[in-house]
Amino acid sequence: MKIDLSKTKDLLGESFPFECSEAFSEFEYSGMSYNFLEPVSVNGAYLPEEDGVMVTAEVKTVLSALCARCLNDARVNISLSLSETFSGSGEDDVYEYTGDVLVLDRAVLDNIILNIPLHVLCKEDCKGLCPHCGKDLNLETCDCEIETKKANSPFAALDGLFRD
Ligand SMILES: [Zn+2]
Ligand SMILES: [Zn+2]
Repeated sequence: MKIDLSKTKDLLGESFPFECSEAFSEFEYSGMSYNFLEPVSVNGAYLPEEDGVMVTAEVKTVLSALCARCLNDARVNISLSLSETFSGSGEDDVYEYTGDVLVLDRAVLDNIILNIPLHVLCKEDCKGLCPHCGKDLNLETCDCEIETKKANSPFAALDGLFRD
């Protein structure tokens, strides 16, 4: 994902529209792996400045990840506004480019990661897995919760006494 600056980098203060779309490969982030279900599309403008290039763009893609509750596949729609300055002089804390080619990938991926929700869910009301038997409660029900309630009730101890 590149911007060719060869004809524009000296035109300071002018804004140049650009768009690109590219398949990104899967990545790991805080112990989870994420796949791209759709190419990443970037649509915006760049502005050559004295000491760098300012890029503003809309970034869109769809990720797949594991649902935090039921561990099935979940789709994560990403739609964000990117605004970054790329430095041509190698300063710290900013993205860099060398020569006439500005590579957007790292800045785009960093912004995508920042926009991943803390708890990815397959659907708003995912019921998750039963903590006792592990059944997917979206698909089936189990009696664990009822059993636990019984065990915690004050009559649980009596239950044994009156059996037989
Ligand atoms: Zn789920
Ligand atoms: Zn259960």
